[in-house]
Amino acid sequence: MKIFDEISRREHEQVVFCSDQKVGLRAIIAVHNTTLGPALGGTRMWTYATEDDALQDVLRLSRAMTYKASIAGLNLGGGKAVIIGDAAKDKTEGLFRTYGRFVETLGGRFITSADVGTEVRDLEWIRMETRHVTGVSPALGGSGDPSIVTGFGVYMGMKACAHEAFGSDSLKGRKIAVQGAGKVATYLCKHLAEEGAELYVTDIDEEKAKTSAKRFSGRYVQPEKILELETDIVAPCALGGILNDETIPKLKCKIVAGGANNQLLDETRHSRMLAERNILYAPDYAINSGGLMSVGNELTGGGEQRALKQAEGIYDILLRIFATSKSEKIPTSAAANKLAEQRIQSLGRIKHIFSNGSNGAAHAHETSKRV
Ligand code: NAD
Repeated sequence: MKIFDEISRREHEQVVFCSDQKVGLRAIIAVHNTTLGPALGGTRMWTYATEDDALQDVLRLSRAMTYKASIAGLNLGGGKAVIIGDAAKDKTEGLFRTYGRFVETLGGRFITSADVGTEVRDLEWIRMETRHVTGVSPALGGSGDPSIVTGFGVYMGMKACAHEAFGSDSLKGRKIAVQGAGKVATYLCKHLAEEGAELYVTDIDEEKAKTSAKRFSGRYVQPEKILELETDIVAPCALGGILNDETIPKLKCKIVAGGANNQLLDETRHSRMLAERNILYAPDYAINSGGLMSVGNELTGGGEQRALKQAEGIYDILLRIFATSKSEKIPTSAAANKLAEQRIQSLGRIKHIFSNGSNGAAHAHETSKRV
């Protein structure tokens, strides 16, 4: 792989390779864009088959964080890190503290949180070496589980979708198929059940799905059937790549709105396919941005109530995306990208004006100092 070509193709600012043989650390930190503030993104631990795979993943994920922070209206940039290793076998205090030292060397340009393969305990090790960590446990002054805010944000986004597609944002009596019965799905289902939606729930863990169906007075559905049900809304809350050539033709819903990341296997192609089938798609990084609002709030000492208030705004964010999609005649995912890019461009301009006081950069610095 031509590393500089890859980095400049996606317009990354900085990519840092971190290595320590003694503790077995091989990590890559990617800072995509810090126009809006310090780059915030999780640290993923994964057994990548090749170093190229690890680099591609961190470049892709960090860029997506820039868009998510921007569309969510946060003063944060996009970043991500990957540690190459087996989360089940390779975790040690030394590994995470060494990694924490590398995060510290970036002086707050990069702030990290948990991701696939990392958890709160690992963050606490990282935090012993750097303040630039968020999403730690409430016992340490952290914001706790971001899924609470993510689930609520998905619920608000789903209401905006219903408003757009059905002319009313009420979800009472709406048939909703939820793929996955994990953390985000559980908080989402709680709100949906309270509003009187008719729920269909699945998970590859049958017990988990059945427990959830019972708890929310819904019905259990086998995993392979969930996307084909005749429902108003399908909510992918499990895997990425779930919207693809095979699944889209089978959908019988009017709306796809769920918490999973990277739902479209191919963003351009599959968002078009959904639009052609007249299925309203809620861009994943916009509707699931509640989790980022939660960890972002931890930096400013905002607390869960403030994060939930921000997540209410996902309703309006989605309405703006739909309005742009209609006026520009582009798929909703392209509309979300356009709005995210516009915010970065317009706010980037204000930094050209010198100010000794409270400009965005100063504010971002402030927030990272408080971590
Ligand atoms: P989780 O691990 O708690 O839940 C995921 C569930 O999906 C698990 O129960 C798993 O068994 C199930 N699953 C996996 N493959 C499946 C399949 N083929 N069919 C049905 N079920 C399947 O994870 P989570 O935190 O709830 O996250 C869910 C999704 O939302 C992920 O894509 C995650 O990246 C995304 N997301 C989460 C947050 C957050 O705050 N947790 C924020 C933004 C995005």
